[in-house]
Amino acid sequence: MTKIAVIGVGYVGLVTGTCLAELGHQVIGVDIDQQRIKNLEKGIIPIYEIGLEELVIKNTQNKRLSFTTDIGKAVKESDIVFIAVGTPPMPDGSVNMEYVNAVAESIGKNMNGYKVIINKSTVPIGTGDSVHRIIEKFYNGNFDIVSNPEFLKEGTAVADFMNPDRVVIGANCQKAAEIVKNLYSEFKTEFIITDIKTAELIKYASNSFLATEISFINSIANICEKIGADVNKVSQGMKLDSRIGKKAFLNAGLGYGGSCFPKDVKGLIQIASENGVRFSILEAVEDTNMAQKQSLLAKIQKLLGEDLHNKNITIWGLAFKPHTDDVREAPSLTVIRQLLDRGVNVKVFDPIATEQAKKILDGKIEYEDDLLKSTKNADCLVIVTEWPEFKEIDLNQLKANLNQPNIVDGRNVFEVEQMKESGFNYISVGR
Ligand code: NAD
Repeated sequence: MTKIAVIGVGYVGLVTGTCLAELGHQVIGVDIDQQRIKNLEKGIIPIYEIGLEELVIKNTQNKRLSFTTDIGKAVKESDIVFIAVGTPPMPDGSVNMEYVNAVAESIGKNMNGYKVIINKSTVPIGTGDSVHRIIEKFYNGNFDIVSNPEFLKEGTAVADFMNPDRVVIGANCQKAAEIVKNLYSEFKTEFIITDIKTAELIKYASNSFLATEISFINSIANICEKIGADVNKVSQGMKLDSRIGKKAFLNAGLGYGGSCFPKDVKGLIQIASENGVRFSILEAVEDTNMAQKQSLLAKIQKLLGEDLHNKNITIWGLAFKPHTDDVREAPSLTVIRQLLDRGVNVKVFDPIATEQAKKILDGKIEYEDDLLKSTKNADCLVIVTEWPEFKEIDLNQLKANLNQPNIVDGRNVFEVEQMKESGFNYISVGR
């Protein structure tokens, strides 16, 4: 049983720590947010992730998982320390390293023997070295730094962690790489063992490539709208090419959001530029994504006219994607702000992200907790997140509720033919 400290118990740290406990290790989760730790000790989970609550409760009860705000105690008692704090973007697109650096300093001050320090946060290339230098300032014993980027997806984080497509381990010595590999000995997956910088780059390259696929298919969708083609069929036709692949990220919609893709695309542009490389593809990916998030407005105006003042518009979906309560950089924020600026009466429904959205959104917004009721007297329904329950709605009841049968579907939730037959004025993406 390995003794592990996980510093930062947000989406990544809490899932990592809990799953490592479930795998049989002794884990202590650390956070500076006292309320978060108090809640976790009572079994109250700060984020929504399928299956997480049960695992946290099970592993705290069997004493393999505990939580503290005392980083010193956690570091001293552990052989392995994960850094899983946030790395948000700075206004210029570079990565804010203050949290990682602060944690590295605390680790350095509390080292009491050989430990492996693992960077799980998504960090710029060279962070392995900089964390090493910070710890070295306070501790002159032996230790190793390993990069072990995380690829879980919010919404399916526990399942992704337990069944990864691959585990990437970047280390400068075989011994440290083996220690980290042993943590995951139960995983039947491909292990990529490499140097630290390569591991750090794999994470940025993967997220930026996925974002590129999204902007690519959204540009195809825009052509489809001009020529009357169907982007879903284009995507299907592309995915059947085995070099592209059936799981390719080619779903047209409102663009990417969340806490990772926007920041990691920006981060990689910055990393490239610092190294004298202009990553112009990614600059276009960002521009395309911004335009895509803003593109719903014109579609709404097509149905309701240019002047939206005092129109009643209902938004379905606040989370940046289904099965998460994360609204960071969500397209819903862009759409809602555009509508509020134009004097629209905005009503919103999301199955779980409402509380998170309230923390970010200003302005007069009516939050509704019933899906169907939220459409009462709306001049237009706008779908921003593809929650599965939206597809199950009774279309007759929906139509009866709306003032006018207008739907702008930013996620292609419904079939075009079905909506036409049901008498809706229906505009979707690239169809
Ligand atoms: P998060 O904001 O949900 O959680 C970060 C946590 O760290 C917070 O609870 C915060 O209070 C805590 N923290 C900050 N400073 C601290 C300190 N000095 N000591 C202890 N705790 C501290 O962030 P997240 O979404 O879990 O992301 C963490 C990292 O993982 C980021 O680098 C992110 O890019 C990367 N990542 C995220 C995802 C994802 O889907 N969210 C996926 C893969 C990788």
